Amino acid sequence: MTTTTIVVLGAGVSGLTCALQLARRQGNAVTVVAKHMPGDYDTEYTSPWAGANVLPMADRANSRWERRTWPELRRLAKEVPAAGIHLQTARVLRREKDVAAGASGGLSDALFALNPWYQELMDDYRELGRGELGAGMHSGCEFTSVCINTAVYLPWLVSQCLALGVVFKRGVLGHISEAAGLSHTGRKADLIVNASGLLACRLGGVMDPAVYPVRGQIVVVRNEAPGGIMLAPSGVDGPEGEISYAMTRAAGGGTVIGGTYQKGNWDGNPDWNTAVRIMQRAIELLPGLADGKGIEGLSIVRHGVGLRPGREGGVRIEKEVIDGTWVVHNYGHAGWGYQGSYGCAERVLELVDEIAGLAKSKL
Ligand code: FAD
Repeated sequence: MTTTTIVVLGAGVSGLTCALQLARRQGNAVTVVAKHMPGDYDTEYTSPWAGANVLPMADRANSRWERRTWPELRRLAKEVPAAGIHLQTARVLRREKDVAAGASGGLSDALFALNPWYQELMDDYRELGRGELGAGMHSGCEFTSVCINTAVYLPWLVSQCLALGVVFKRGVLGHISEAAGLSHTGRKADLIVNASGLLACRLGGVMDPAVYPVRGQIVVVRNEAPGGIMLAPSGVDGPEGEISYAMTRAAGGGTVIGGTYQKGNWDGNPDWNTAVRIMQRAIELLPGLADGKGIEGLSIVRHGVGLRPGREGGVRIEKEVIDGTWVVHNYGHAGWGYQGSYGCAERVLELVDEIAGLAKSKL
């Protein structure tokens, strides 16, 4: 069997999921090269900052990535405790004023749609009864979802890759073509997977001007709300770009409360006024979170800011030849990189197959 030599640029959830799926196929020699690795916390490295949970955000036409990911995340939650993912009830709330305005407060219009497409994906989806809605709420829905403790899940992905022979290397690339010379095999790469996230806008050979940051400020607290429900209302009263959500993570990961969805904002520092509003809103959403004590009752693990890799026109998953080497791009996942990770990796593998087919037809 011939070996395909592959270098994956990026060790966020996108790069790691691709590396894992590629390494599961016989005949692939996979190297992961990245500036940041699981364990690092850096504004340029989005994945560790995510909550993360599954709240479908795409509209029906673009739902493939989330549709194809959900079964695997649900399986991991049910069968693989070491992955740090657990099942959790999600409650999506549509405010009267947002329904009247015909838009959500920024996170996703499709998530808050009346009669959403994803009701066919989530087994136990149900609309909330009137008696379950608070003041000012038009309607809402509830379904079993998952919450991922990213501090456990990202190292778990690394460990699964290592077990399959993937080699990890630190490296800071000025140009995507440099990846071709970085395989641990010593051979020139047959193809490169570009999973560089937000930094795709600065990477030589790519320099994608459509990529922009979507700033997400969060607070991680030790408190857990009784019942552990994940909540996401369609909007908040306050400055533009602020949103509200809460999720309790598996394996002692605390509760992540958010947040912001600020397009074009590169500021990696927490804003303290925003932090106070985030905590106040979380307590209004989940009064049990601080045991009725107000925000003084929250035990803070960390304040943080992550920059989601937004992209005009949506995610880029396509192949092209750069400086004589095939490159498969997989970046620009905005706020859904985890919940679309396996679906996107599946498409990357299809493109890798297409490239192999083209190479064979030339023989
Ligand atoms: P990254 O994690 O940024 O990884 C990029 C990798 O490329 C890094 O390893 C980096 O070092 C490397 N790299 C880039 N350029 C170079 C270079 N030149 N040389 C070497 N290495 C390079 N998603 C969900 O699905 N559910 C959620 O609930 C959720 N919540 C979120 C909450 C917040 C606050 C934030 C900020 C994000 C959230 N997201 C969520 C979105 C999700 O985190 C991102 O979509 C995802 O992490 C993007 O992953 P990535 O692998 O593409 O990029």
